[in-house]
Amino acid sequence: MASVEIRDVRKAFGSTQVIHGVNIEIEDGEFVILVGPSGCGKSTLLRMIAGLENISGGEVRIGDRVVNDVPPKERDIAMVFQNYALYPHMTVADNMAFSMKLRNAPKPEIEQRVSKAAGILGLEKLLDRYPRQLSGGQRQRVAMGRAIVRDPQVFLFDEPLSNLDAKLRVQMRTEIKELHQRLKTTTVYVTHDQIEAMTMADKIVVMHDGIVEQMGAPLELYDRPANLFVAGFIGSPS
Ligand code: ADP
Ligand code: MG
Repeated sequence: MASVEIRDVRKAFGSTQVIHGVNIEIEDGEFVILVGPSGCGKSTLLRMIAGLENISGGEVRIGDRVVNDVPPKERDIAMVFQNYALYPHMTVADNMAFSMKLRNAPKPEIEQRVSKAAGILGLEKLLDRYPRQLSGGQRQRVAMGRAIVRDPQVFLFDEPLSNLDAKLRVQMRTEIKELHQRLKTTTVYVTHDQIEAMTMADKIVVMHDGIVEQMGAPLELYDRPANLFVAGFIGSPS
């Protein structure tokens, strides 16, 4: 069964429709990348999966549950944003623990999970630091640590690397893929960078003006683009 299903989902802001009946099925453990030019609706779609935007029409299912009316906190997802939004006044450990504290998880369980996540991401020695004492790459790793601490059914990433310099971006791509290979958590990852999409995705969803132009494995899109838009977008350098 699909882990996430987006069925005929639409979104309007006022009278402006920005998502026009999108259908996507995401299998359990799949790493799916939503790619497309700025303004095509990637973040809006991701935010609807997260519950941060209302759905104007259609249905979003996570696992076996239709979540249209389920608040973000009660969805089994964790989101990593572009600006990673760490809490500046909290240590790395507290940043990672925060979402579990919000959900009233017992303290020993929180500590055990934070320590496990820190081990996975190589953050053990940084747990007492504050975000301002970290490099860009370390901050990004803490943001991922916050997401994996809860062991959610689905990770949602919105352009998590776009604030990093080119070298670090390439390194973090590898780290995120390794993390996925290790945890096998279903992932929906948004980027406008076709190289990122081609190198990281199991399946790419190419969006344009609020519709899906094509979806498939990276090489499938590269070899057999459905139309000129996909050919131009996938084929052009970033
Ligand atoms: P992307 O992430 O692909 O760059 P977005 O999902 O952010 O695109 O935006 C899709 C469209 O929806 C854009 O035209 C954007 O201006 C519009 N939009 C996004 N959020 C809002 C909002 N809160 N109110 C009005 N329009 C919005
Ligand atoms: Mg966006």
